[in-house]
Amino acid sequence: MNNKTAVITGASRGIGKAIAEAFAKNNYNVVINYNKSEVDAQELKESLTKQGCVCEIFKADVSIYSKAKSLIDFCIEKYGKIDTLINNAGISQIKLFTDISPSEWNNMINTNLSGVFNCSHNAVKYMLNNKSGNIINISSMWGIDGASCEVHYSTAKAGVIGFTKSLAKELGLSGIRVNCIAPGVIMTDMMKDFSDEDLLLIKNDIPLNRFGTPEDVAELALFLASDKAKNITGQTISTNGGQVV
Ligand code: NAP
Repeated sequence: MNNKTAVITGASRGIGKAIAEAFAKNNYNVVINYNKSEVDAQELKESLTKQGCVCEIFKADVSIYSKAKSLIDFCIEKYGKIDTLINNAGISQIKLFTDISPSEWNNMINTNLSGVFNCSHNAVKYMLNNKSGNIINISSMWGIDGASCEVHYSTAKAGVIGFTKSLAKELGLSGIRVNCIAPGVIMTDMMKDFSDEDLLLIKNDIPLNRFGTPEDVAELALFLASDKAKNITGQTISTNGGQVV
C-alpha cells in the first residue's frame, strides 16, 4: 500500500482512465469509479495491478448522493483516508436549446454538477479530520466560454467553476485545496459523434493546431494534486491548445 490515496470518478474510460493510470503509476492507491462500463474498469484494474500498482474499482452513479457516499466510504474502508478526489465523471449532449427536455436538463445538471457536490460533500469531512487533501474538478472550456447547442452542458460546467472558487475559499484555512481543470477538445468517446470534416474545422480553430489527449489532462491533475502546487487553490486551469484564452 502507498502513502497517498486518490478517488477518480468516471475512471473506466477516457480522461478519468488516464488520470487513474497516472496516479497509480505515481504511487497513489487509486479507487477507480465507474457506472456502466464494468468490463473496462475491470480491465484497467487488471492492467494496473500487473504493473505493480495498488487500485480497486467501485461502481457508483455519482449523480445519486447515497451512491457517492458509498464510493467515498469504500475508499476510507480500503485505504484509511482520501488525499485527492478528482471529480471527472461527466456526460455531454449536443442539442438546440429549444429541444432540450426537462429530464435531459436535470440529467446533465445532476451528473455534471450535483455529482461534484455529492462526492466532495462526502470526501471533505475526512479531509477536514486530517486537515489536508485536495479536490480537482474537471470542468470544460465551455464552462468558461459558453457553447452554442450545449446550454445545459456549459451551465453545469460553469457551475463547477463557481463551486471550485467558493469551496477553495471556505477550506483554505483547513489545509484543503480545490482546483479546476477546464480542458479543450480531448479525443475520447465524448468526441465520437463528430465527423472527420467537423473535427478538421475545429482543429483549424485551435492555435496549437492539435487536439488534447487524456494524458495532457492527467499530467495537469498530477501536478495540481502534488506539493508543487501547494500555493494554488481556487483556480481554473485550461489545457486547450489556446482555443479559449
Ligand atoms: P467519456 O470518455 O465519455 O467518459 C466519461 C466517463 O464518465 C466514463 O468513465 C463514465 O463511466 C463516467 N460517467 C458518466 N456518468 C457517470 C455517472 N453518473 N456516475 C459515474 N460515472 C459516470 O468522457 P471524457 O471525455 O473522458 O470526459 C471526462 C470529463 O472531462 C467529463 O466531465 C467531461 O465533461 C470533461 N471534458 C471532456 C472534454 C473532451 O473533449 N473529451 C473536454 C472538456 C471536458 P461509465 O462508462 O462507467 O458509465
